[in-house]
Amino acid sequence: MSLSQQKIAILGGGPGGYEAALVAAQLGADVTVVDSDGLGGACVLTDCVPSKSLIETSNAMTLLNRSDTLGIATGGLATVNAARLYHRITDLARAQSRDIAARLAAEKVKVIPQAGQLKDPHTIEAAGESVHADAILIATGASPRILPGAVPDGERILTWRQLYDLTEVPRDLIVVGSGVTGAEFAGAYLALGSRVTLVSSRDRVLPQEDEDAANLIEDVFRRRGMTVLGHSRAQAVRRSQDGVTVTLEDGRTVSGSHCLLTVGMVPRTDGIGCPEAGVTLDRGGFIEVDRVSRTSVPGVYAAGDCTGKLMLASVAAMQGRIAMWHTLGEAVHPIRLGHVAATIFTDPEIATVGVSQRAVDAGEVVARSQKLPLATNARAKMAGFRDGFVKLFTSPGTGVVLGGVIVAPRASELILSVSVAMEQRLTAEELAQTFAVYPSLSGSVTEVARELMEFTPDSIV
Ligand SMILES: Cc1cc2nc3c(=O)[nH]c(=O)nc-3n(C[C@H](O)[C@H](O)[C@H](O)COP(=O)(O)OP(=O)(O)OC[C@H]3O[C@@H](n4cnc5c(N)ncnc54)[C@H](O)[C@@H]3O)c2cc1C
Repeated sequence: MSLSQQKIAILGGGPGGYEAALVAAQLGADVTVVDSDGLGGACVLTDCVPSKSLIETSNAMTLLNRSDTLGIATGGLATVNAARLYHRITDLARAQSRDIAARLAAEKVKVIPQAGQLKDPHTIEAAGESVHADAILIATGASPRILPGAVPDGERILTWRQLYDLTEVPRDLIVVGSGVTGAEFAGAYLALGSRVTLVSSRDRVLPQEDEDAANLIEDVFRRRGMTVLGHSRAQAVRRSQDGVTVTLEDGRTVSGSHCLLTVGMVPRTDGIGCPEAGVTLDRGGFIEVDRVSRTSVPGVYAAGDCTGKLMLASVAAMQGRIAMWHTLGEAVHPIRLGHVAATIFTDPEIATVGVSQRAVDAGEVVARSQKLPLATNARAKMAGFRDGFVKLFTSPGTGVVLGGVIVAPRASELILSVSVAMEQRLTAEELAQTFAVYPSLSGSVTEVARELMEFTPDSIV
């Protein structure tokens, strides 16, 4: 049998699964996807796509409500039509899922809309049907972690997946957890008009992120009226008649109308037959994989959140594609997690790529760094904002760009220049000699590169 006639079975139709299916189909394989909750996965239906759609609305609100500073006379504060907002979000997510279904159908990928499980290293079983394959990819994703004393009821005590069933914007929202998801929703609901209390067990919000960026966002949150409780670990959340009370470990209580729990994710690997088929899980239940997505069992691959690597759609999709290239005999580069560009969609956004300040400070990486506040950028002044910066890391001596942090509106778009520089091993000098538009925020990227150019005495004439 030629490689192009191989059979591939995929468990899970999120970005890890459906992107892999597209690659396998492109390479001529016979592909079946088994998915229980809808193509696009949690990414499209409940997590990434809905949250970013909500944040688009919250950003528009922020702009509208400060439009007077730009010389626009309005009739007062803009408010949200919650029904229309949530309807738009769920419609958009379902449409995106349908687009993916159509694309898979066009590529002749078979889809079984059922829960499935691994029967043996070459078989997935779903609703009594056995799908035999030469290679299997597991991409079952992850679910919100639930605290024992804070069980969501879908009305007042919520995971982020239940927000879009609300009929109102919470009047008084308590967000438990100050990681990426907590910070994004806390900022968004603040802009949408909720009173927001952010409960953080650590000394600051976004404890895993660049400290300069996290401090800036916390400062912006506080200035805009958010209550941020540091060193405050939530122990229990109870529902009252018309609200919620969060009890902290030190006995303090916080009351509000709704509580959103954002305390991490657990892998969806229970009961899908991994140990029985010999697939090794780590202590947290995540599937152990190498850099080409191989599990402990030959022919069984895994991708995405169920592997617990970087929990990002872009990483899930790349792990899935790599698995297919590998099993179908294509040349493949092992995944490089150190090159992943990521964004926290707060306002302003925080985008990062490459080495971190933490690694530099810990002496794990030797790097020079330079930070340029956006307040000096002409375009930022014209648009009326001043919170943000561009930080670049370079290798001492060679000047090669090692990474960067951008805090700015649409930093998610701006970070690409740093990613390209890093990927292509460009030096600060080469980046500095690249034309940026004047006026533009990307001008700050070339400007900070200029500040990092190294001159030897001989080069100064
Ligand atoms: C609030 C939030 C916002 C996010 N925003 C971003 C962002 O802006 N950018 C970004 O890159 N990432 C973002 N992420 C992360 C991103 O959503 C995940 O990394 C991504 O969904 C992982 O893809 P996946 O394919 O591994 O899993 P999923 O998207 O979870 O898909 C898994 C699929 O497997 C199916 N499945 C599970 N078990 C079975 C079974 N037994 N049988 C059949 N099917 C099964 C499920 O139905 C689901 O369709 C966000 C996450 C959250 C929580």
